[in-house]
Order: sequence, then structure tokens, then C-alpha cells
Amino acid sequence: MNCVSLSLREASELLASGRMTSVDMCRAFLDRIRKVEDRVHALLNWKEEDILRQAAESDARRANGKLLSAFDGIPVTLKDNICASGQQCTCASRILEGFISPYDATVTEKLKKAGFVLLGRANMDEFAMGSSCENSAYQKTANPWNLDCVPGGSSGGSAASVAAGETVIALGSDTGGSIRQPASFCGIVGLKPTYGRVSRYGLVAFASSLDQIGPMSKSVYDAAAMLDVIAGQDPMDCTSLPQEKENFADDVEVFEKNPRLDGVKIGLPKEYFELEGLSSGVKAVTEKAIETLKKLGAEFVNISLPHTRYSMACYYIVATAEASANLARFDGIRYGYRSPRATDIQSTYFLSRGEGFGMEVARRIMLGTYVLSSGYYDAYYLKAQKVRTLLRRDFEEAYKKCDLIFTPVSPVPAFRFGEKADPLQMYLSDVFTTALNLSGDCGISIPAGLDETSGMPVGIQLMAPAMEEKRLFRTGRAFELAREQKEFLAPLD
Ligand code: GLN
Repeated sequence: MNCVSLSLREASELLASGRMTSVDMCRAFLDRIRKVEDRVHALLNWKEEDILRQAAESDARRANGKLLSAFDGIPVTLKDNICASGQQCTCASRILEGFISPYDATVTEKLKKAGFVLLGRANMDEFAMGSSCENSAYQKTANPWNLDCVPGGSSGGSAASVAAGETVIALGSDTGGSIRQPASFCGIVGLKPTYGRVSRYGLVAFASSLDQIGPMSKSVYDAAAMLDVIAGQDPMDCTSLPQEKENFADDVEVFEKNPRLDGVKIGLPKEYFELEGLSSGVKAVTEKAIETLKKLGAEFVNISLPHTRYSMACYYIVATAEASANLARFDGIRYGYRSPRATDIQSTYFLSRGEGFGMEVARRIMLGTYVLSSGYYDAYYLKAQKVRTLLRRDFEEAYKKCDLIFTPVSPVPAFRFGEKADPLQMYLSDVFTTALNLSGDCGISIPAGLDETSGMPVGIQLMAPAMEEKRLFRTGRAFELAREQKEFLAPLD
């Protein structure tokens, strides 16, 4: 059976129908991995024996009527910065080479409790710093739609593994766009939940006040269902938020019986559409998407997010400052790599870090250390915190006029390897995504069409106020059902 395009919903139905076992399903994905992985390079590692053992355990539970959830036995792929007990967790960095996680992240524990089969570890930009997956210390992941193009980043391995049909669903992390941008580049759905919706315990920290784990999936329904599994307050993460169980997937199921958007107000922030460098292909797809949403009954209103032009600068100060503090723990003593040339404590620290971190990570640590140093703290870090408050207020004001905000995800579709060698050019691929992490609200990227010149997928971004993911799922689902192009399958075969 061809499992390539199997969604979470379909996989669950298939297993429930008894037409397929978890072992067979996992075998099909392993076959697929064997077939395409040497071209896509989405995974850092996967252990066949371990996968089939988990699948057999699930089949036994099903046979005994002891199912853990409707998703028992379905494979899921984790970004390599999410800890799973007994598995290597490297964040695609040399400095964590050989580091075996002694515990499960809270999300991993929740996946296991729901019976998911942990399929493998997805490649990423080192420590989630980047927008193309080119910063991985181990390999470059290719975009399954065109192997000469990047899959986006930093969760490029997760996105590519879903788009290449190597798994049913994946988890990524989003600090400044790293779920939404690669989802858009690979033609899949990516959700950045509200900050605090999902526990960060066991997610290797990049920028703690911005990081969120979220689903990368083949449909909006799947993203909703996965959020049901991983959301919740966690005593191990004091920034996780108290929340009711929302049953997002059930809500989508009820909504899709009559998927109309009458009465829904969607804001169009003028600053996002005035940007120089917005490609004509992305513009065309977003304009068409607006028409589709209008036909569904949604009303578009013009809004302004006046501080948008400061969001990138603000993000790169806050994110690097936090990264420089978080990455201080990698000292060659406690985790992973230690330089063989080290002779004492000082050389252990200097040499291990010097050899263990890649260029981009080193650049961020230096930038972050600089903006936090005495004499510059007020001018940069403190100022950025103030700008962050202004950006947050922009959104608060905007949501007085609309329920959701609509923007492109990235100004350009997936680009070619090496095309954005200048770090500043690379940073600009995040212009539309970073403000959402600074505000802490939620957003989703949904495939909308193909770029007219390159034929690469283009996504649209919907944003909503904190804890209003339901709005994203309903509007997203209505859009998905109404958009012209129904399927987004990478032409890999
Ligand atoms: N591309 C952005 C960066 O390099 C965002 C990364 C992320 O969301 N993890 O920082």
C-alpha cells in the first residue's frame, strides 16, 4: 500500500478499520525512507528495529483492546532538538555529537502516552538558527519539490520528511518562523502555537521567550489533532499556560460540515504588503487566497501594524541575547563533544566550543554577548525589549478591528542552495514571521498554490490572538477545502 500521502486522520482510520497494522504501516514508511532519503536527507537517524518494536507493541495493544488513543501505532518524526529518552539529540551540532538524552521532553512523553511510534530524528539548522537547513553540521536537506532548492529552516528536516512522504506527521520548533517558513517552502501545514500552549521542557533552548514546539502536517485537521495531543500546562515548564482541554480536532470536524466564514473579519496589515522584495509569484498566490477567503464569506479589513519594520532588528537582538545565555552550558564538560586537544579546564572550554559550534551559532553567540554587555545593554537589549512591547501593542490594537490577520509566510518561495550566503539576506526570509514570536500569539502556515515561475509551493499565514488557535483551524480548514489546488504532493517519484 502506498502510504506516502497518508494524513494523521487517514492513518488513524486505516488502523481502526483493521486493513493495516502498525507494523505494516511503519514498514511502508521505512521502505519510502530507503527509496528517497538518499536524495532528500531529511533525517539524521532512524532505527528500524526500534521503530518496528514500537509498532508491534501498538498492534498488541490494539489486539487486546488496550488502545492508548486513536493515534496509537502512527509514526511521528521529531526535530533533533526535542529530547527522547535513549535517543541521540544533537540539534544538528557537532557539540552535541553522541549526546544521548536521559529523559523525554514533555511532548515526547505525551506522544508516547498516545501510542505514537517515534520514527526518527529530523535534520535542522544547528540549534535552530537559520532559514534553510544549510547550517546543519551533518547534512543539507533538500526540498522534495526540487532537490536543488532548500526546504527552509530551521525545521527543514521535519518539513521535508512530511512532504517526501517519509512520515505521517512531524514536530518542529518555531522561534522566529522555523515551523511556518519550511512548511510553506515544502507545501505542508505548520502551526506555531501560542507561547505557553505547549511545554518547552525537553526542547533544547535557543531563545526561551520565543521558542514553541508545534505540528508540521499534511492538513489543518492533523495540526489541530496533534495540538490536542501535545498542548497543556506542565509543572516542568513555568512558562506553560493554564488551559482547558480544547478538543481542537472535534471542533474542526463539526465546523467542516458547514465551512463558511460569514462574520469573520480578517485584517490585512499594510506594512506587510508594502515590503520591497515581495516576489510577484508570492503576491499572486496570496491575492488569489484572499479572493478564496472572500468567497467563503470572510470580510477583509485594512489594518496597520506600525512597528513592523523594527521587528527583525528586535528579534535578532532578543533571540541572540537569549541564545548566548542558553548556549553557555555547552562547555565540553557536561554534554557531547570535548576537544581531543584539550589539556585543562580553560582549553577544554575554548577548544570544545570553538570546534563544536558552527559559524552561524558562533556569530549569534557573539552578537548576543555584545548586546548584553555592560555599556551596550541599554542601547540594544533594553531598547529591543521596549520595541517588543510596542509590537505586542500593535497586535492588541489590530485585534480590536479583526479576528485574524492574513499575510504571506515568506517574501520568496524556496530558494536554491547557496543563494543566500549573506547572513543578512538569510535573516530577511523571516520578515513576516518573527513578529508573531515576539508577541507570543499563534499562527499557521497553509499551502495556497504554486509559484508561477519556479513551480514551488507557496503558503499563506494566518495569525490570531493568544489562545485563539480555534480561529486558525476553522479559517484554515475552510480555506483548505475551498482552494483551487487540492493536493500538495511533492513530485519526487
Ligand atoms: N530563521 C530564524 C533564525 O534564524 C528563525 C529560527 C527559528 O524559528 N528557530 O533565527
